[in-house]
Amino acid sequence: MKESPAKSAAARKAGAKQAAAEKAPTKKAAASAAAPAKKAAAKKAAAPAKKTAARKAAGAAAPAGKAAARKPESRVAMVRRARRINRELAELYPYAHPELDFTNPFELLVATVLSAQTTDLRVNQTTPRLFAVCPTPEDMAAIAPEELEELIRPTGFFRAKAKSLIGLSTALRDRFGGEVPGRLEDLVTLPGVGRKTANVVLGNAFGVPGITVDTHFGRLARRFGWTTAQDAEKVEADVAAIFPKSEWTMLSHRLIFHGRRVCHSRKPACGACPVAPLCPAYGEGETDPDKAKKLLKYELGGQPGQRLKPPAGYPGQPAPPLASA
Ligand code: SF4
Repeated sequence: MKESPAKSAAARKAGAKQAAAEKAPTKKAAASAAAPAKKAAAKKAAAPAKKTAARKAAGAAAPAGKAAARKPESRVAMVRRARRINRELAELYPYAHPELDFTNPFELLVATVLSAQTTDLRVNQTTPRLFAVCPTPEDMAAIAPEELEELIRPTGFFRAKAKSLIGLSTALRDRFGGEVPGRLEDLVTLPGVGRKTANVVLGNAFGVPGITVDTHFGRLARRFGWTTAQDAEKVEADVAAIFPKSEWTMLSHRLIFHGRRVCHSRKPACGACPVAPLCPAYGEGETDPDKAKKLLKYELGGQPGQRLKPPAGYPGQPAPPLASA
């Protein structure tokens, strides 16, 4: 039977409606399926921005380490980076100085010998009484060992240190006319005096450039990628090849200041470290800015940017004007 045109038009309309109805849920499903994908893409795009902001907030550009891992650094790039680190540290610690109290080369020599295996603070608490009793090499050479041991007991290893102090004082009296010599080759002949102690005395009592490789200096030089050596003499030679002589003494103070306050041995405060963008070892310590801040030890003195008074008798650079009396 042939359909009437009106009927077939109605049928076509109904079919189209059904098709549209079938299509509609598919669109909806597609939209809902697309939503998580869109969200994921948005998240992906936002992530690096977020990370960058976090890094900026931490004041630390982590990629220094990652970049170094990707591509070995050329010698020229390493030297350039090393000198930038030195400049940053110079701004951070404008008046870095030896933290031992002294008023003449003999006191600095004795204080440096006493500082082995103890803190400068402990030495500074001990030396006023010691120097009141033994102000000269002659006095120290003549003191009874037991009396000297008692005077320096708080610094630890007091028997060995007393032996060194009497030995070096006797040598100063007998071989150097009671004066501390100003040459490395003479200083290292004194009992208990190695290159580290000799360089401290040369750099700070005589103004002769010297690199002081103590535990802080060695650790930071390795973290900065300036050396891989553990041996102090090798570290000294590697660092000496990077910096001009005129920088050696102050560079030593700056690294030691930074090692004591920020870049600690076990938990460096990477997340609060101002030289993090230049440091290949970023991430070796705490990277969370808030947690890292708690690790800082600025109570030792020398906040970044703070002008410190020079220690008594310090013959190095003239003191910059202090911000406040
Ligand atoms: S705290 Fe030390 S290891 Fe960490 S970024 Fe600073 S200098 Fe590098």
